[in-house]
Amino acid sequence: MSKKVLVLGEIREGVIRNVSYEAIAAAKQIADGGEIVGVLLGDSVESLAPNLIAYGADRVVTVEHPHLKSYTSDGYSQAILAIYEQEKPEAIVFGHTSLGKDLSPKVSSRIQSGLISDVTEIEGSGDDVLFIRPIYSGKAFEKVKIKEGIVFVTVRPNNIPALEKDESRSGSVSSLTVDIQNLRTIIKEVVRKTSEGVDLSEAKVVVAGGRGVKSEEGFEPLTELANLLGGAVGASRGACDAGYCDYSLQIGQTGKVVTPDLYIAAGISGAIQHLAGMSNSKVIVAINKDPEANIFKVADYGIVGDLFEVIPLMIEEIKALKVGS
Ligand SMILES: Cc1cc2nc3c(=O)[nH]c(=O)nc-3n(C[C@H](O)[C@H](O)[C@H](O)COP(=O)(O)OP(=O)(O)OC[C@H]3O[C@@H](n4cnc5c(N)ncnc54)[C@H](O)[C@@H]3O)c2cc1C
Repeated sequence: MSKKVLVLGEIREGVIRNVSYEAIAAAKQIADGGEIVGVLLGDSVESLAPNLIAYGADRVVTVEHPHLKSYTSDGYSQAILAIYEQEKPEAIVFGHTSLGKDLSPKVSSRIQSGLISDVTEIEGSGDDVLFIRPIYSGKAFEKVKIKEGIVFVTVRPNNIPALEKDESRSGSVSSLTVDIQNLRTIIKEVVRKTSEGVDLSEAKVVVAGGRGVKSEEGFEPLTELANLLGGAVGASRGACDAGYCDYSLQIGQTGKVVTPDLYIAAGISGAIQHLAGMSNSKVIVAINKDPEANIFKVADYGIVGDLFEVIPLMIEEIKALKVGS
């Protein structure tokens, strides 16, 4: 049976996050020919609606309210629940981002549905759809089928490819008025720790440093390499604990989970807790002085050497390639 699917378009710094386009691709598979309704929440978001349509949404519903300018679970859940009541969808898809992870349990409990979080792959479509998600910190995968009720899933960034952008697609954009009230939190100002660059959890390339980077300054060549590759800098907990970088960069069991196309691990031993956050990356390159380091067991390419010699060489080569092209 075809399904109507709601997809939350997540906005960051005035731009729709790529994971929302990936969520639309996931929604298409679940919808099996049904309608995809994009959702945009904020204080002024209507102008972004054509982007959701170009990436596959059939129409878009917005809720605009000053209290939705910054995310709060109270405000967003009121808006989403109002849209849910209006649209009565058979399925809902969010990105498995910090926002999606915070909001989805609240919404699913309110609508009394189950929730399949952190989906990395979808098999089949319609009523036969199967969701694949990592369990035991990525050591195994389970396939989940929903037998009854609403299909509510969050999709991990960088795993389900977005559809081709098609600017010729058209669809209606409507707004719903919701009186957002009784907020327990009012956001006065958002101060980002990492002020610029690519978002770590969605980056296609991650250059991560560990205790082997040895200092805050030691991260500079890693940052240069990440910038050259259009990627983001990450870190092991060892590097964060040592004060070389901020904890917002930590990757692993108690940090962020990333699945970039390319993960470069420099001066990271490869503890099991670190692997839990990156071992599903598509290509892993490890640079370590110790040939016995555990990180080499998950690496596709291993370089035994001093990262302070290897990374500058990589930077030089990439710059030369860029000049040549
Ligand atoms: C409950 C719990 C949760 C945890 N969660 C996380 C988590 O989310 N993420 C995480 O990362 N860890 C986590 N840890 C910590 C984890 O167990 C490791 O202690 C940590 O990952 C080690 O960080 P590291 O690899 O940077 O440091 P180390 O293990 O000290 O490794 C440093 C590596 O750098 C190499 N090296 C040194 N100098 C150079 C050089 N010049 N060039 C190249 N290589 C060099 C060394 O050979 C070594 O392999 C957790 C631990 C616990 C108990």
